[in-house]
Amino acid sequence: MKIVINGIHANLRFSSAHMIPCHQFCGGIHGHSYHVDVQVDGDRCGEFGFVVDFKKVKDLMRDLCSDLDHKVLIPLESDDIKFNDLDDSVDFSIGVKKYTLPREDCCLLSLKSTCAEELAEYFARKLYNSLKEEENESEMKIASVQVCVNEGIGQGAYFEIKD
Ligand SMILES: [Zn+2]
Repeated sequence: MKIVINGIHANLRFSSAHMIPCHQFCGGIHGHSYHVDVQVDGDRCGEFGFVVDFKKVKDLMRDLCSDLDHKVLIPLESDDIKFNDLDDSVDFSIGVKKYTLPREDCCLLSLKSTCAEELAEYFARKLYNSLKEEENESEMKIASVQVCVNEGIGQGAYFEIKD
């Protein structure tokens, strides 16, 4: 059995700025109003016969979204970004372009890139790990988690994690 949560209607959204280093069109800082769709597959369980309580998934996803919301997303593992400082300010360069941003305006992510593909995997792994931790304390049995990170309406990247 699978539960499905629509990110627009369930308010799993965040607005962030990012750049795709060295990309012809996406290399400059620009923003998206993202929304995140979620599916969780597993066995029905417990008193109510839920796969997992919708509220639990939405709360977990909203926390993850709020970490990124109204921030500049910075991929710490990028091969194209040279970091000079990450403490007081976020100081880095991409080729000849130099950036200095306030630390509190940035969300530093241990990712190679902040493209939708990487963000989908990031959300899916975080959600999957949180739900798996709770399996030990409940009857819940999760088989897979699927996340689609949409860069606005009409385009998104989908990542699935299975047992
Ligand atoms: Zn973009």
